[in-house]
Amino acid sequence: MRIVLIGPPGAGKGTQAHRLKEHLKIPHLSTGDVLRATCKEETPLGRQASGYLDSGQLVPDDVVLAMVGERLDQSDCLAGCLFDGFPRTIAQAEAFDRMLAERTIPLDLVLEISVPEEFLLDRLAQRGRADDDRDTVRERLRHYHALTEPVLDYYRERGLLRLIDGVGTPDEVYARIKEAVDGPQQTPH
Ligand code: AMP
Repeated sequence: MRIVLIGPPGAGKGTQAHRLKEHLKIPHLSTGDVLRATCKEETPLGRQASGYLDSGQLVPDDVVLAMVGERLDQSDCLAGCLFDGFPRTIAQAEAFDRMLAERTIPLDLVLEISVPEEFLLDRLAQRGRADDDRDTVRERLRHYHALTEPVLDYYRERGLLRLIDGVGTPDEVYARIKEAVDGPQQTPH
């Protein structure tokens, strides 16, 4: 199964992705995690990526697409993958479609974790990651509205999008995700 997880910063994507990948037994590809690891490397790409992450900008599409293409071809991704934080722009979504078509593999589902902005700001204030300071968060939310929300429309038009209410405890949100993925569970008699 191939699933894309999209949500604004602070929506709880990472937490939910970890639970879902255990449940589905598929690898988890978080472009944010890969980029954070790249930033720690003392390489030109690492320094370039740090500049974008530290200021809350999106990393250029070609860098992200090369990363995803490479990962898609590794054998553990053949049976399925959970994409977290990718695609984040229409150009990435279109290129992703081409990548999947070239490999004749389908995308099954796109989950949008939706959380109102006032909840996001509270959660991010508590999290304390390096790119969670106020100005950077504002920048990341701006990019989310301008560049990533159109990706949701792109998948909605293709009938792949399911909206998940992201307000609640991690368990409550996960139950909604699981239902979207597995279908409603039978209640025992
Ligand atoms: P995340 O962990 O998904 O919130 O991503 C952290 C940061 O990594 C973002 O603010 C971007 O700078 C960068 N990033 C992650 N995924 C992408 C992507 N698909 N396209 C561009 N930049 C990305």
